[in-house]
Amino acid sequence: MPCRVVHLPPLSAPDRRNWLRTVTGRIPPHFIDELIARTDIVEVIGGRVQLKRAGREYKACCPFHDEKTPSFWVSPEKQFYHCFGCGAHGTAVGFLMEYDHASFVEAVEDLAARAGLEVPREGGAAAPRQPHDELYVALERAGLYFRQSLAAEPRAREYLDRRGLAAEIIQRFGIGYAPARWDGLLDRYGTTEDERQVLSRAGLVIERQPDAERGTKPGFYDRFRDRVMFPIRDTRGRTIGFGGRVLDQGEPKYLNSPETELFHKGRELYGLYEARQATRSLQRLLVVEGYMDVVSLHQAGVSYAVATLGTATTPEHLQRIFRLVGEVVFCFDGDRAGRAAAWRALENAVGEVKQGRQVRFLFLPEGHDPDSLVREEGAAGFEARLADAWPMSDYLIRELSSRTDIASVDGRAKLVELARPLLRRIPSDVYRELLVAQLAEVVRMPPGRLGELLDAGGASPGPRAERAPPEPARTQVAGSAGRGNLVRQAISLLVHFPAAGAAVPVRDDLEGVDRPGVSLMLELLAQLREDPVPTTGALLERWRERPEYPHLAKLAATECLVPDAMAAAAEIRSALGRLVTEHLLGRLQEIEQKARGEPLTQAEKAELQGLLRAHAQSARSPAPK
Ligand SMILES: [Zn+2]
Repeated sequence: MPCRVVHLPPLSAPDRRNWLRTVTGRIPPHFIDELIARTDIVEVIGGRVQLKRAGREYKACCPFHDEKTPSFWVSPEKQFYHCFGCGAHGTAVGFLMEYDHASFVEAVEDLAARAGLEVPREGGAAAPRQPHDELYVALERAGLYFRQSLAAEPRAREYLDRRGLAAEIIQRFGIGYAPARWDGLLDRYGTTEDERQVLSRAGLVIERQPDAERGTKPGFYDRFRDRVMFPIRDTRGRTIGFGGRVLDQGEPKYLNSPETELFHKGRELYGLYEARQATRSLQRLLVVEGYMDVVSLHQAGVSYAVATLGTATTPEHLQRIFRLVGEVVFCFDGDRAGRAAAWRALENAVGEVKQGRQVRFLFLPEGHDPDSLVREEGAAGFEARLADAWPMSDYLIRELSSRTDIASVDGRAKLVELARPLLRRIPSDVYRELLVAQLAEVVRMPPGRLGELLDAGGASPGPRAERAPPEPARTQVAGSAGRGNLVRQAISLLVHFPAAGAAVPVRDDLEGVDRPGVSLMLELLAQLREDPVPTTGALLERWRERPEYPHLAKLAATECLVPDAMAAAAEIRSALGRLVTEHLLGRLQEIEQKARGEPLTQAEKAELQGLLRAHAQSARSPAPK
C-alpha cells in the first residue's frame, strides 16, 4: 500500500480568494450605484495602464489594441473609458471584465474590496459557497500530484530532457507526469465517495460500468495514465483541465480533459495565461497546434504562442484573442492535414475580421513543426518567418484560385461563387471593400460590379439583428442632428449627462409619438427623474443586463459637443418639443390628405380638432433655450 500521507501546502491568499470569489446571489442594483459612485475609474485603469493627464481627461496607448500613439481616453467626469482606435469602451466594471477577463461578479468584488465595501446579496447576507470551488481544489491537487510524480519518474524526466525543456520552463508551465497506474490519483484524493464524485466532475477519473459477465464492479479509475501532463489554466491562473501526452508510442497521442463545468475546449487556449504573464502588453498571438509547440516556443522567447485544445479554432477563440490583441498568426504544418486545419480556421475567422484586426497564416516547411523549427532557427529566425506570413485575404484568394482555372472566364466566375459565402460573412465594410478590390483584380472585373454580384440575392446577413434605436455611427452629438435623429440625440445626451434627465419636465404628449427608440427614451427619462445617477458609468451599469445596453454604451463613446448638464437639458427639451410638433404635423397632414378625397368621420373630425389645439399649444410654448 503506498503511503497516503500527503499534506497540501496551504493555499496562497489570492488562490483562496479566487476559489471563494464566485457567487450565486444577485447583487442589488443600488449597491452597484454606490460602488460606481465610490470608485474612481482613473485609479482602477491607472493601476494597470500608464495614464497621462490631458485636459479634463486621461489618455494612454490602448491596452486592447496595438498602437503607437494614444487613442485611449478615460474620463473621470463620466467614469467612462473609450478608445478611438478600436472602439473599446465601458465603465470601471467593464474595464476589469475586459482587461482581467473577470466575470461581472468578480469585477464588482474587486472594486468593492478596493472601496472597502462588502458586497451584499439579495436574499442572503454572505456569498454561498460556489459549487465549482471543490473542482478547482481537486484540479489544483491533481496538478500537485502530477508534479510530484514527475520528480519520481526518471522516464518522464528523460522524455522532457530529450525534448530540450529546461527546469525553469517545466516549472513555469506546471508540467507533471501521471503515473502508469489505474488508481494513483484515486488512492490519494478519492478515498470517500464524495471525493470520487468531485474527481469525476473535474474530469480526472472515469466511472467504470459494472459488468456482471466479466465480473467488473462499479467504481472509478484514473483518466490520465503514463502521460506527461500539461495543466490548462484559465486567464486567472486557475487550473481548469489537463492535456496529457504519451511518453513513447501509444494512442491517443494527446488526451485532453473532457468537457466539464469548468473546461470548455472550444473556448480555452493553452498557454494564454502564461503568455499574458510573460508580456505585460501583448501585441499579437501565435496559434499553434500542440502543447509541446507552445512550451518550446515560450522557452525560445516566442512567449505569445498559444494552442487550441484538440479542436479547430472557433469563433469564440477568435473573440477572446481579439479582445486581447489586434493581430493573430495561425501557424500550421505544411502538409495536407495542416492545410485543412488552416482552411477551417479561416472559415471561422472571416466572421471576426474587421478594420484594426489582422489575421495571417504561416505554413511551415514540410516535415517541420514549430517545436523543431524554433529549435533549428531560434526565435529570431522563427519571427522572421512570421513577418512573411500570408494575410488572410491573400490566403483566401490563393486557396480559392487554386480550386479553379482563373485563366478562363468560367473559372473566374466560379471563383466569385466560391468567395461569395465567405465574403458575405465579413462584417466590416472597409476590410470587406479592400478584399473585394483585391478579388476584383484577380477576376478582372470592376470592384463595384463584383461587389454587386457578391451581394446579389439579399443583403449580407449580419451577425446580429439590429434593434431600435439604430446603431449610432461614431459621429458627434450636436444640436444640429437631423430630423430622424431627434430620439437618438435625446438618448445620447441623457447618456452623456444623466443629471440632465432630472431637469427635463414630464411630457404626456410624447406617448403618442411613434418612432424607434421613443420607449427607451421615455424609460430613461422616467428613471433619471425618479432616481438620478451622477455619471455615465453609473447609468450604464444600471442597464448592463438590458438588451439596449450595447447601444447606450456606444452612444457614450460618441463625441459630445454639448458642454454641461444644463445645456444638455435645454437640448433635450428642445428635441422633445420638436418630436411632438413633428408628430402632430405628420398626423394633421394624414388627415388633411384624406379629407381631400372623402368626407371625414366623426372620430376623425374630433381628432383633427384636438390636433389643431395641441399644435397651437405646442407652438405657444417655445422650447426653452
Ligand atoms: Zn483600442
